Amino acid sequence: MYSGTFHSPPEPFEPLFQLPSFAYLHPMIQPTLTTISRLFMAAGLLFTTTSGIHAQSANRPNIILIVADDLGYSDVGFNGCKDIPTPNIDRIAAQGVRFDAGYVCFSVCSPSRAGMLTGRYPQRFGYERNVLYVPDDPAMGLSRDEELFPGRLQQAGYRTTLLGKWHLGAHPDLHPLKRGFSEWYGFLGGGHQYHPDSLRLKDPMKVFTEEASYRTWMNRDLEPVKEGDYLTDALSREAATFIERNRQQPFFLYLAYNAPHTPLQATPERLEKFKQIENKQRRTYAAMVSAVDDGVGRVLETLDKLGLASNTMVIFLSDNGGPLHHNGSRNGDLRGMKGTLFEGGIRVPFAIRWPGKIPAGITYTKPVISLDIAATIAGQVGGQPRPKHALDGTDLIPFLTGKSKGAPHDFLYWRHFDQKSYVVLTGDHHKLLKRGDSTYLFNLAADRQETRDLATVEPRLLKKLDRERLRWDAQLKPPAFLGLSQRDEYMKTRQRK
Ligand code: CA
Repeated sequence: MYSGTFHSPPEPFEPLFQLPSFAYLHPMIQPTLTTISRLFMAAGLLFTTTSGIHAQSANRPNIILIVADDLGYSDVGFNGCKDIPTPNIDRIAAQGVRFDAGYVCFSVCSPSRAGMLTGRYPQRFGYERNVLYVPDDPAMGLSRDEELFPGRLQQAGYRTTLLGKWHLGAHPDLHPLKRGFSEWYGFLGGGHQYHPDSLRLKDPMKVFTEEASYRTWMNRDLEPVKEGDYLTDALSREAATFIERNRQQPFFLYLAYNAPHTPLQATPERLEKFKQIENKQRRTYAAMVSAVDDGVGRVLETLDKLGLASNTMVIFLSDNGGPLHHNGSRNGDLRGMKGTLFEGGIRVPFAIRWPGKIPAGITYTKPVISLDIAATIAGQVGGQPRPKHALDGTDLIPFLTGKSKGAPHDFLYWRHFDQKSYVVLTGDHHKLLKRGDSTYLFNLAADRQETRDLATVEPRLLKKLDRERLRWDAQLKPPAFLGLSQRDEYMKTRQRK
């Protein structure tokens, strides 16, 4: 089983896959954006006033957050993928905004999700490792001291659900129902077997290894239930029924697919669809991505059918970059992979659709981050956190409509404690990368492959960004728990207790 740990990942310089030329463009889109957005706003206003659908809840949009797991940057059509059609995922971008420089706050699953759901850099609260699956350890996971934005939506009257992967702690105190979700269906660990015949361990509270956690029954709220469908299809089914059940009230749907994370398992019908792909790993991966795309299609069709599309914000992203040879993913021309702080680890497929509120068919090129999701929702829907839980993200909507000029972020930051790695990224795509004692400077606007180190060319900028790094680092905590890479050490501490 692929463990998700990366001590010495390969970091290829050579592009594995070339994106089409449009992906390299960094257009000055603001004037165009403003014009288009005005037209769109007018059209949206017309639509909402004439349709009468959900007139009362126009200020309380539904929110659907769809997360793919270990999906590579270039493995969706809107980022240039050629061998795996993703027409439904592409619809989100075509009818909304594609983020060319969309980042996640960490390069592996669990911290990335902790940051996304809190809207805060996970390093602020010591969350820099993949959790171990230990249902009897309340310290192994996302601390109850942190607030999650779904809880604020729930308090504001939203019906909230998680469908799929949790991966923020298996102890009952840390379960989704205790963290702001009204209901949930899914599994607690970092991944799962896909075929129902493989799910033979009934009680998720009675397993204590990652491998076993992949084979449990599903949890429906507090009950273990036996699933009969291929897992990705099951989650899509649950998503459609959740939307139908909650059509009359504002809802938040966190659809957290574990696909296309390992194990590589697909349905025979979809494998047949990709029989022209010779590489078996890539073929299976393609079939899994296609299942996610089918699910996204089902979600969008359900919104259309119920007349909810215009009042629903749909966000799609991957939780980290593609792990390349571990699951057959591709990050296009980006260097590195899951687990690294090169672009291939943290820059992901990322798009948002909100008809009538943001323009359609736009590529937004300035850096944005998954932490912006919580801030965007807080900015648009309300529900700001208490001061001690201050968000690190920015409400992106004014930037997407052209109302706010400039970049959403002067600086974005990353730290990978166990790798002694840091990144500081500026709003104009300059990137400081520190790995141990070595510090590099890249200009991603001209060199997103990170092949030309400018450290000696621009020493003043390097120094400035390093000061910024130290300033941010001083606000962080060390890791709060031992993770997947420290399993042996963790087991020893348990024996001593
Ligand atoms: Ca992941």
